[in-house]
Amino acid sequence: MSRLAVDGGTPVRTKPFPQWPVYGEAEERLLLEVLHSGKWGGVGRVKLEELEQRFAALQDANYAVSVSNGTVAISLALRAAGVRSGDEVIMPPYTFIATATSALLLGAIPVFADVEPDTLLLDPGKVEAAITPRTKAIVAVHIAGMPANMDRLKQVAGKHGLKLIEDAAQAVGARWNGVGVGAIGDAGTFSFQSSKNLNSGEGGMILTNDKELADMAWSIANVGRIREGAWYQHEHIGWNFRLTEFQAAVLLGQMTRFEEQVALREKNAGLLGQLIADIPGIAGMRRDPRVTRHAHHLYMFRVSKERTGEAGKQEFLRRLAGEGIPASAGYVPLNRNRAVLNEIRQLTGEERVNDCPVCEEACGEVLWLHQNVLLADEEAMHDIARALRKVAESFQP
Ligand SMILES: *Cc1c(COP(=O)(O)O)cnc(C)c1O
Repeated sequence: MSRLAVDGGTPVRTKPFPQWPVYGEAEERLLLEVLHSGKWGGVGRVKLEELEQRFAALQDANYAVSVSNGTVAISLALRAAGVRSGDEVIMPPYTFIATATSALLLGAIPVFADVEPDTLLLDPGKVEAAITPRTKAIVAVHIAGMPANMDRLKQVAGKHGLKLIEDAAQAVGARWNGVGVGAIGDAGTFSFQSSKNLNSGEGGMILTNDKELADMAWSIANVGRIREGAWYQHEHIGWNFRLTEFQAAVLLGQMTRFEEQVALREKNAGLLGQLIADIPGIAGMRRDPRVTRHAHHLYMFRVSKERTGEAGKQEFLRRLAGEGIPASAGYVPLNRNRAVLNEIRQLTGEERVNDCPVCEEACGEVLWLHQNVLLADEEAMHDIARALRKVAESFQP
């Protein structure tokens, strides 16, 4: 067995991986257009209109409302769908904290339903078991860019009269049964924060096929105005959550290479999946055949505790980094987050903890490769697989 790089051996890879963001002449030209137009935001939107139309078309939705980030996008979608203070919102615990805080900002109570062990996506059976008379909505998170089981979740939501919102912050470009995610449920939300697969530094989008919900979301993001109303006509309580023309320009530029990038990530992830399939102690995620396109914001895999023993995944990460492969440890269980639990206690007057053993177990084993790693060449996938094998074999079972 070859010596690990952290012990003075030769690293598997020394070449760097592609940088993120990727940008070029398109962004430069579009940004200058906005600059010289003098229309940077507010009224007279030009690029934002084009962006909303193109984004809705990309994901097969009828309506798009641009907003300032992915967190407020979830809050607005929930509020526009009728979620109010005291309502319960069922969501998975394996996600970014914003999924929970977006409900808490409305005074709504996150209820965590566990995930499936081999996808880390919301488990529809666990959702059904978590429903109470106060439940108003379900937030399905397409974690890593892989769509959750929308067939089953729609069935559960329909049966119990609940709203179904998709947190698709990581899933731009993803498709379930051939249909873009985002408006398979009542509404879907996206993030254009700097790490995301389409990015403008910050930004967000709400998609829906429901005109009333779209108009309400637009109004809340536009200080309660209505689309055809007068400037000082405020029909609802709303805030200013608008995106700027500069961000729309960057996003339109990013969209010129988007299809190419999605295809490359799919190709590389497929190859990597084959290359690591027989490595002892390593398991990729299961992909439902109805996932017709995976956005691969993350490439997730599990490293079994049986393999790494006491040292665990932190030691695995350290050895892997030594071999020239950048990976990260990912989320800790949101159902155990103190800040979230304190807020829930404030809102409900009681200590509420939802046990999610599948998620808690997974958090000790899951590692991530980030989306830019999947924009590398084929040789890089072979390097990753070689490094994973070398490091996995370095742990004595
Ligand atoms: C990034 C992200 C968000 C929040 O988006 P922001 O634009 O950073 O506010 C919400 N949910 C998930 C799953 C995310 O990855």
